[in-house]
Amino acid sequence: MSESQSIQWFPGHMTKTKRQIEKTLKLVDAVAEIVDARVPVSSRNPILHKLIQGKPRVILLNKADMADPQQTARWIAYYKEKGITAIAVDCRSGKGMNQFIPTVRSVLKDKIASWERKGMVGRTIRVMVVGIPNVGKSSMINRLSKGSKAVVEDRPGVTRNNRWFTITKDFELLDTPGVLWPKFEDKTVGEHLAFTGAVKDAVVDVEQLAARLIETLRELYPNALTSRYKLDGLDLSAMQGYEILEAIGRSRGMLISGGEINTERAAIAVLDEFRGAKLGRITLEQVRA
Ligand code: GDP
Repeated sequence: MSESQSIQWFPGHMTKTKRQIEKTLKLVDAVAEIVDARVPVSSRNPILHKLIQGKPRVILLNKADMADPQQTARWIAYYKEKGITAIAVDCRSGKGMNQFIPTVRSVLKDKIASWERKGMVGRTIRVMVVGIPNVGKSSMINRLSKGSKAVVEDRPGVTRNNRWFTITKDFELLDTPGVLWPKFEDKTVGEHLAFTGAVKDAVVDVEQLAARLIETLRELYPNALTSRYKLDGLDLSAMQGYEILEAIGRSRGMLISGGEINTERAAIAVLDEFRGAKLGRITLEQVRA
C-alpha cells in the first residue's frame, strides 16, 4: 500500500459520482458496500447512506484478516441491531467470500419470492459494489469473477468505467461508477485513512503521523507496542507519541551519526509494520461495549 496516491477531490467530481450512482442504482437490486474492518467508520462515504436509501444492502467488513476479530464481531452485531446485514471477509485470500452470494440472496428473499410469484424464476440478481478507494473493491470483484477482468491496482483513485461482471448465471456485479470519496473534512478520518495507507504519506508528515498512530495504539493495544518494539520498563502512558517513537528508534538501533535517533526511519517502520499487520490484528475504530 506504499504506492497509494493522493486524490484530488473536486466538488465537480463528487457531483458527477453522485449522479452516476443515482442513475446506476436503478439498474441494480442491491448494494454491496465495502469498508475496511480496521477503520469501519472512516472508510465509509459520508453520503452513501442517503444516496442508496431504500436499496437492500450488505456491508462487507473487508481486510478482516488484519482487524481484531472480537471487534469485527461487535461491528457485525452493531449493524444487525440497525437492521443492516454485515459480513467479515478477506478479499485477498477469499476467506468469508463464500458467504457473500447467499447473504445477498437472504437480504433479497422477499424480492426473489415476489419475482418467482410473477413467474420470474432464476432472474439475474444485480449488485453494485461501492466503497472509497483502497478498501478492496477490485480485489473483491476479481475474486468472485475468478480474476477474469477486474484490474487490481495498489493505489486509490484509479477511475474505472461502468463495468459488469458475471459471477454465476444469475448473479452479476457492477463496479462503482466513479470514485466515492471519504469524509475527508474530518481530521480523524483523514488520519485513520493515512494510518492504513489509503491516503498518501507524502501529503502528511510521517513522523507526526507515526506519533499519532502510536498514541492511538497506546490507548487501544498497548501490549502490541510494548512487545513488538521491546519497550518493557517504559511507562508509555506518561510519554508523548513522539517520545515513544524515539524509544522505538533506540530499541531498533536506528541511529544517525552523532548517536542521534533516526526518527524518520522509525516512523516509516511503525507505519509499514502496522499496515502489514505485524503488530497483530488491530481495529482502530471500535464499538463501545
Ligand atoms: P480498491 O481501490 O477498492 O479497488 O482496492 P483494491 O482491491 O485495489 O485493494 C487495495 C489494496 O488492499 C491492495 O493492495 C489489495 O491487495 C489489498 N487488499 C484488498 N483486500 C484485502 C484483504 O481482505 N486483506 C488484505 N490484507 N489486503 C487486502
